[in-house]
This record gives sequence, structure tokens and C-alpha cells, in this order.
Amino acid sequence: MDLRITEIFLSIQGESSHAGRPCSFVRLTGCPMRCVWCDSEYTFTGGERMPFEDIFAKLAEFACGLVEVTGGEPLAQKSAFQFITELCDRGYEVLIETGGFVSTEEVDPRAKLILDVKCPASGEAERNHWPNLERLRPERDEVKFVITDMADWEFARSVIEKYDLATRAKEILISPVHGIDMRPLAEAVANSSLPLRFNLQLHKYVWGADARGV
Ligand code: SF4
Repeated sequence: MDLRITEIFLSIQGESSHAGRPCSFVRLTGCPMRCVWCDSEYTFTGGERMPFEDIFAKLAEFACGLVEVTGGEPLAQKSAFQFITELCDRGYEVLIETGGFVSTEEVDPRAKLILDVKCPASGEAERNHWPNLERLRPERDEVKFVITDMADWEFARSVIEKYDLATRAKEILISPVHGIDMRPLAEAVANSSLPLRFNLQLHKYVWGADARGV
């Protein structure tokens, strides 16, 4: 089996409660969504078909126990589900960073989800696959809201309440779009009385906002 791959690299995990940990990344090509603030448009096309064995060989070179499967939308390629299972079989701790519009039902339960909920300013909020929120597991899965403005923040609050995410998710990540004035959002999080994590994209502060493969 194979996957269309944009890049495979070793870096530090940049966002989520795993931020700062050494992590190998497998970035899959392609995404049917078009979030207006997307920072990985270069994954939409191109890439290279790679057999699973070649991907595993590359990961073995990195000798890193944590692997994140990301994109693009990593679950948009059907063979990604088998790939995730085989990563788990090999003993890797596996993170899946998904845009939240593909069902996570068939994801190997050993993998840990970082599930986006798209907010209105992304332009893709109508495509959220809401049953994914009901499948979150509080011991391992994280949910992330990328916030552009305070209307997004209010949307996030309403979803957190409606789906009782404080109980369902291990972490609720509130991520400002890179480049906005973050202070109003940080203050709102501080005053929310909710178990949130204000979540910056660490890699962008280390390598810059436009760097690839980091
Ligand atoms: S789901 Fe992710 S990769 Fe796809 S357009 Fe949105 S931000 Fe970009």
C-alpha cells in the first residue's frame, strides 16, 4: 500500500499539549477544504507516492518514538487508516492532526487525535463532522479551535458547551491565527472559567511562519 506524501521530517511538536516534544512528521498531500487562513496550501497538490515500507524506513532513520500524521487532511486518503494502524503496531506513539470533516470512526483507537473544529472565519465551519466530537476520548484526544476574531471565540464557547468538551476532551486548545493581536483572546481565555489551553504554534516562533519541513 502507499500514500501520497508532501514531506517527512523530524522536528519538535509545535501545537497541542505535546508541544515541545521531539516528533517525526508525515505530511500527507491533499485537502478538500479551503480554510481562508490555511498555512499549508503547498500540500494541496503535488507530493510523491511512497510505499508504506519506504515511509517506515525514513521514520526509522529519525529514531523518534512520537510520530504525527498530518497534512493537508491526513484522513482524506483511504490508505491512511491502514498506515496509522501499522504505525501503532510498530510501537510508535501516534498523533493524528485532522481538520475535522472526515469521520474519525475508522482511526485505530491507539492513535491520539488532535481534532480541529472549524470556526466561521475559516469559511469551512459548515463542513464540521459533528459526530467526531462525540467520539473524543478524555484520556487521549484533544480538540482545537483556530480563532480569527471574537465571533470565532463565541462560536468556540458555544460548541464547547453544547458538546460538553470539558468532559469529553483531554485538552481544549484555543489557537489564535498567526499574526493577529492575540491579547483580547488571551484575556478571554484567562477569564473564561473553562479548562482551556491557549495554544501558540511553537515552530513558527522558532523557524518563522513560512518555513516548511519544520
Ligand atoms: S483543513 Fe487544514 S490543510 Fe485543509 S484547508 Fe483547512 S487548514 Fe488547510
